[in-house]
Amino acid sequence: MYAVGVDIGGTKIAVGVVDDDGRILEQVRRPTQPEAPESIDAAIADAVTELATRYEFEAVGLAAAGFVSSDRERVLFAPNIAWRDYPLAQRVASKLYRTDLHIVVENDANAAGWAEFAYGPARDVSSMIMLTIGTGLGGAIITDGQLVRGSAGFAAELGHVRVVPDGHPCGCGHRGCWEQYASGSALVREAKRAASERSVRAADLLRRADGHASAIKGPHVTAAADAGDELGIELLHELGHWIGAGAASMSAVLDPEMYVIGGGVVAAGDLLLKPARESYSAALPALGHRPIADIVPASMGNDAGIVGAAALARDSAGVSGSSRTGGIL
Ligand SMILES: [Zn+2]
Repeated sequence: MYAVGVDIGGTKIAVGVVDDDGRILEQVRRPTQPEAPESIDAAIADAVTELATRYEFEAVGLAAAGFVSSDRERVLFAPNIAWRDYPLAQRVASKLYRTDLHIVVENDANAAGWAEFAYGPARDVSSMIMLTIGTGLGGAIITDGQLVRGSAGFAAELGHVRVVPDGHPCGCGHRGCWEQYASGSALVREAKRAASERSVRAADLLRRADGHASAIKGPHVTAAADAGDELGIELLHELGHWIGAGAASMSAVLDPEMYVIGGGVVAAGDLLLKPARESYSAALPALGHRPIADIVPASMGNDAGIVGAAALARDSAGVSGSSRTGGIL
């Protein structure tokens, strides 16, 4: 049975038809305006209506970058889209060609985590944590086959676990949050700092950014490290360290079998994951007397949000066919 997944970004949406095996059969995109939630509702309804002319489906999952209510109908708050206690599922439903489609809203990091759990490297485990290393640090927790959403939908905001008392300020209003150390933004911040303080050592990095420290981006760092540049390798090592050290604290709480690491920077492979594994083991409580969780790269790339949202919507609609069921609390 097919289902539709919608990945709602700041300036565009991507909408895909997904089959039982997590494959996207067709994908369409529409531009949106983040300050105008109605434009997002209309774009989703338009894309879903278009796909319905070519495919049959009963369920639509909306992956939203925001805090989603535990009944999965509303976005309570989003940092980059003007959703404030917004009844997203109902608003989209009101614009659709038929009224009986099953629509659920899901946090985007949860949707991505579910895709990796159902179809990716975590398909054979029952407990995992996904960390998406992007602008921030997105988290998804699956324990005993269930997504952990929390009492009101605010769980798994792992990026805002404090790891450094009085550390770097965070957009959430506090200091020292994990995402200020384990994110693409942290990598770029440290790369820029190194380039402006030690320009000789940063020669390779600066060359890749046309000579301007302020123009350095994450892919410059991974490309430099890939080519053997010492500073690039060191910067990825530092990022990996923060990922692993923080994960050890997560294991003290949740004891997952696996960490799946997503985001563009995982293209760096073992330059990132090896230091992550080392720091994880080094900080793990009761080391030597417990299993050590695998830390592996995500496999679904940018499609994870669409695939996971579709699978979760299909499961909650009670339609059989997903490789995993029971994810709905
Ligand atoms: Zn924070």
